[in-house]
Amino acid sequence: MMWNREIETLSCAELAAREENALANQFAYLMTHSAFYQEKFRGAQKTITRAELATLPFTEKDELRASQETHPPFGNYLAAPIENVSRVHKTSGTTGRPLYIALTARDIETTHECGARAYVGAGLQRGDRVVHCLNYQMWAGGVTDHLSLERAGATVIPFGVGNTHVLLRTIRDLGIHAISSTPSYLVHLADIVRSELHIEPHELGLRKGFFGGEPGLQNPNVRGAIERTWNLRAMDANYGMADVLSIFGAECERRDGLHFHGQGALLVELIDPATLKPLAIETGARGELVYTNLTRAAQPLIRYRSHDAAEIVSAEPCACGRTGFRFRVLGRSDDMVHVRGVNVFPTAIAEVLASFPELSGEFQVVLDTPPPYNQLPLRVELAPTAAQDNVSHLNALLVRTLQERLNFRAAIELVPHGTLPRTEGKTSRVVKTYP
Ligand SMILES: [Zn+2]
Repeated sequence: MMWNREIETLSCAELAAREENALANQFAYLMTHSAFYQEKFRGAQKTITRAELATLPFTEKDELRASQETHPPFGNYLAAPIENVSRVHKTSGTTGRPLYIALTARDIETTHECGARAYVGAGLQRGDRVVHCLNYQMWAGGVTDHLSLERAGATVIPFGVGNTHVLLRTIRDLGIHAISSTPSYLVHLADIVRSELHIEPHELGLRKGFFGGEPGLQNPNVRGAIERTWNLRAMDANYGMADVLSIFGAECERRDGLHFHGQGALLVELIDPATLKPLAIETGARGELVYTNLTRAAQPLIRYRSHDAAEIVSAEPCACGRTGFRFRVLGRSDDMVHVRGVNVFPTAIAEVLASFPELSGEFQVVLDTPPPYNQLPLRVELAPTAAQDNVSHLNALLVRTLQERLNFRAAIELVPHGTLPRTEGKTSRVVKTYP
């Protein structure tokens, strides 16, 4: 099942031709309507090719924050007349002042088109009864994702978060069989089903889960636990960045990375976050995702750094028929450490360590000196049950496994269980002790 077969199966060459055309038009629009970019790209020509795009400076979130401070409320990167703004969202602002996101009717249309591709790709079918449990309070994950689910043909129940007693009753009353939420919400809900309804979660009848907003599902243990507990199919269905496009990544039934679903709306570049040089989007490439809006009217962005690091799982067409490249998110690109020419991401280290039952999964990259690094010092925590007598053997095995799997040399200090602080969500694993 595809939402838009024509665009989802475009060849690379056809897509590139469309992008080239859209980019030229969009850049001309920016240079006549966006005071922010007129100033930033002062002296630039009025149109641009894909190749020339890579020569332009990046746009950073801090610049947008400053722009909204000096030109409230939407910043001087608002390129459309203010009366054309139909909807306003806010970013979560976990790392500073939140941004107000303005969308015109056309921006909204594009958002829901790409959202529908993602949800249908992740297995949503017409008539699926979905309860949408993401925060509706200004966050794009609320009303915007709700309307993408509707666009994709679902019957959508706008629930939001909180009031789980009413939620459980609503699921039963309406015979709801699908849920859209963060993965961790289902872990929380399982406890409530047991304590309030005195049944096992799988007896509630949810059979499809469309998840986003958190990285959790890429951990096979997290996904497996949700699927077993609820007897549902858990899909990573909702990756995006409200600043550029609310949803543009979702798994297909093969579950081998997130398909890119922003064709025609978003141009993606991959860069090396250390050198800032462009990288080819080819199978196995790792770098930071950088976005350029191709059609956005209200707050179009050029070369916007996501600071999200990703691996291109495959740039080849998928067995499902889609040609959109597949990627997986590795974490914050700012956490990347360069070790003897190899880009190492803490998320990748976490995946390797997770396969060792002797470890708790907690670790830190401890940088006592500035770069360059020939080897990477890691503090790795043992599981509570780990036998202390075999520690040197384990240490050697870890060094060898990290070398084989991630191609860098680690210097490992194994520490007793409970030594390291627990990391959650976006907490950095990298500890710098040098000034
Ligand atoms: Zn696929």
